[in-house]
Amino acid sequence: MTTTNPAPTFSGTDTVLNPASGEVAGEVHWTDASDVQGIATGLRAAQREWERRGAKSRAKVLSRFAIWLGDNRDEIEKLLIAETGKSSTDAAQEVPLLIMILSYVIKVMDEAMAPETRPASLPMMRIKKVAIHFRPRPVVGVIAPWNYPVANALMDAIGALAAGCAVLLKPSEQTPLTAELLSQGWKAAGGPDVFAVVQGAREVAEAVIDNSDYVQFTGSTGTGRKVAERAASRLLPYSLELGGKDPMIVCEDADIDLAAHAAVWGAMFNAGQTCVSVERVYVLDAVYDKFVAAVVRDVEALEMGSGEGKHFGSLISDAQLAIAERHVNEAVAAGARALTGGKRAAGPGAFFEPTVLVDVDHSMACMTEETFGPTLPIMKVSSVDEAIRLANDSVYGLSASVFSRDVARAKDIALQLDCGAVNVNDVISNLMCTTAPMGGWKTSGIGARFGGVDGIRKFCRQETVVAPRTNVGAGGNYYHNSLKALARMNGLMTRMALARPRRTAK
Ligand code: NAD
Repeated sequence: MTTTNPAPTFSGTDTVLNPASGEVAGEVHWTDASDVQGIATGLRAAQREWERRGAKSRAKVLSRFAIWLGDNRDEIEKLLIAETGKSSTDAAQEVPLLIMILSYVIKVMDEAMAPETRPASLPMMRIKKVAIHFRPRPVVGVIAPWNYPVANALMDAIGALAAGCAVLLKPSEQTPLTAELLSQGWKAAGGPDVFAVVQGAREVAEAVIDNSDYVQFTGSTGTGRKVAERAASRLLPYSLELGGKDPMIVCEDADIDLAAHAAVWGAMFNAGQTCVSVERVYVLDAVYDKFVAAVVRDVEALEMGSGEGKHFGSLISDAQLAIAERHVNEAVAAGARALTGGKRAAGPGAFFEPTVLVDVDHSMACMTEETFGPTLPIMKVSSVDEAIRLANDSVYGLSASVFSRDVARAKDIALQLDCGAVNVNDVISNLMCTTAPMGGWKTSGIGARFGGVDGIRKFCRQETVVAPRTNVGAGGNYYHNSLKALARMNGLMTRMALARPRRTAK
């Protein structure tokens, strides 16, 4: 039975359905793409004061917003479940993650925005004070996906707001409701008019790119390419957080129960609709049977369903379910075996049974294309080198995980993997380490989020201000000096600058 939204009209108002039940989750009022310019102009006007008030004052507003999120967690999660069909177990992770990110940003934003002084490089410029200021890009366009409507909408917006930018958020057209609630929360926390939400699909997203000074995009690699092209035509900087096909490597000395628990949670969390989910596993032949048995045991204990007391919920739409279905069906037709699930669940809702696939290889889409569903293909390998080669045999390079009791060995394997992050004896945990950058290699992205102060500074332009310590000696190269004095000065400068190369060349 189809429960997901029929093609929306993108004009006027539409109802949003819960993909798990088909019940109405709420109503969305679509933004006319031609209105985006006016909304951006309003943000741009309000941003001046937001920047001028300084980081400490902005931190107070962000703190009040964090408190509002904590106070309204239940209401946010209820709406989140209603518009995504998530289980409450999965939905319960988003608001706390966002509050943790906010708390960290509040801690470091003053340091991030403080100007840096740099020593002058030439002795004769020591009469100058050199300062690098971080000036916010006025309007940051945030284009978000549907898989984490709270976290993905705001985890980057927070850094931009901390930097003193205004944020123009376009949530996914599939999950428009939570963003409206978050925007109400920003106002309730006393946030000024530097945060606006616009609703729509491609056309509105394009208008966001056309009216922003920086684009923060999270979504699929295909759309990311289009964003890059459009931004390039305006010479607009951007950061792209894109798709992945994260591999897990299980060595023969791994804690097999731990690896199995991690693989199952990493693959099924949020019904597999996580950019950094475990999408494929390579297991050394010595422990392959034991690992597969442990995984099947864990998967058979899972309870699927939306809302309370379930492990993971429905997929976002029938279209998303069709991708998982195709990957599984094609693999089985080519000789793979589904040890669990393998099909759409009976009854209403976009539910796909958790599926463990074995006898898979890289000729199959389930091992090479992003599935974004509750599937776990497992492949037997005869050496760690083979596992590394297969893990790297991908157009993606978001993150990976390695399981071995020998942590030094696992770290050595990590440094042979071509991706933005590797978790040793764990999955997805790098996402919680906001002091470290999170970004994809290859077609998984350009740029990164988080990374300590870098996660705030990326939304800024650097402005160098050179001011005098003393005016004595300034203007030595101006035309009013005698030509002889200029020649003497140039000779002196050259001799001084050559001192180091002469010493170093010896
Ligand atoms: P999507 O690319 O279909 O859509 C993302 C956003 O782009 C939506 O808001 C959509 O309206 C908008 N959009 C559509 N056409 C556009 C255009 N021409 N120009 C600009 N914007 C346009 O992605 P999705 O299906 O919503 O999300 C799932 C994808 O997101 C997966 O590939 C997943 O891996 C990826 N993702 C990546 C990360 C990460 O941090 N790397 C995090 C979450 C999701």
